Amino acid sequence: MHNGYAHSMRRAIDSFALAAILLASLSACVNNTNQAVDGGLQLDASLELDASHDAAAASDAGPDAHSADAAELDAGPLDESVTLPQEIRDAVPDLYVAQQTRRVSIYVRPSTSLSAAEVEHFLNAATDALTYNQNHLALSAEEIANEPRIRVVVLNRSSYTAATGSPDSYGVSFPAYGDDVDALVVKDDALSNLADFDDTLAHEINHVLIGRRAVDDTYIPWWVIEGTAVDMGANYAWEVHHAWTTFKEYWDEATGDDATTTFARYDLEDLTSDSNELAHDQAISGFFVEYLRFIHEHDGAHGYPDVHPRFLAASIATSEGASFAMAFGANFDGLTLANAKEAYRAFLQSTIASPSARYAGTVFE
Ligand SMILES: [Zn+2]
Repeated sequence: MHNGYAHSMRRAIDSFALAAILLASLSACVNNTNQAVDGGLQLDASLELDASHDAAAASDAGPDAHSADAAELDAGPLDESVTLPQEIRDAVPDLYVAQQTRRVSIYVRPSTSLSAAEVEHFLNAATDALTYNQNHLALSAEEIANEPRIRVVVLNRSSYTAATGSPDSYGVSFPAYGDDVDALVVKDDALSNLADFDDTLAHEINHVLIGRRAVDDTYIPWWVIEGTAVDMGANYAWEVHHAWTTFKEYWDEATGDDATTTFARYDLEDLTSDSNELAHDQAISGFFVEYLRFIHEHDGAHGYPDVHPRFLAASIATSEGASFAMAFGANFDGLTLANAKEAYRAFLQSTIASPSARYAGTVFE
């Protein structure tokens, strides 16, 4: 079963939307945006976002933001103070909140074929994936409760295609932009493969949570943005369903050269040329995060169990102006980024013939 993601980034370029259409391949998060900006405009867009993001958060703290009652399920029309991403509004203007909790809203169209029970399944699944991210990113429940809800838009295939331009992906996340809040979009048939669906939810929610904190991603490498999300989604699907991520095919076959290729091709610019290269680089990126989490030897220990909070802190520092390499070293006890990459390359090369050694110590062992 193939499993694709798309991820909308402000700095992405339009050609990635085309790549997304090819996503019948292994899991891939294609950068897909209609709000494409070139490199020169990225900083401006991010600076603008900084202020507007706060405004969006403030407006969200309206009458219903903290109205946690016993039921926590209240349907109603779309809150006019909240604007979903432009691409979604343009494609499907009649969305409304079908169900929500304090932390998650599920948007559907009036014409949805989903039953109330199915909508509730989406709501509960997103809430669980959010909780998993919260725990693994070491975010407090209070912090999560005080920020805008995770908005999950559930669409049938034709509406999904219209809203995302990525018909074969399993999920698309849109970052906050201007007055628009962030949101993620999934298909209404997602419940037919719960392992892929939960992997997708954990992955996309990871993008949303990190995007809210490291707002300017211009100088955060792609292998960090996607590697952390891939690792989060893969671990979640494994924990909940004992299902392998479809990225594992790449992990099984990776050599040292694969790491070298990915670090060069998927750094500040996404230089992949097709969906297979993209899936490859995201897979190798995700396993680097897993390697750092459980395997990398340092100070008599194996790995950094809190690898996700470390990457989050490094991403925030980079968003605020540090170089990523400096931020990485500062958050990994002085391990240099160059040494970490080289150790991963050597590890892959030395475990080519030994899958058991490759996965030993990881949750996938
Ligand atoms: Zn992604």
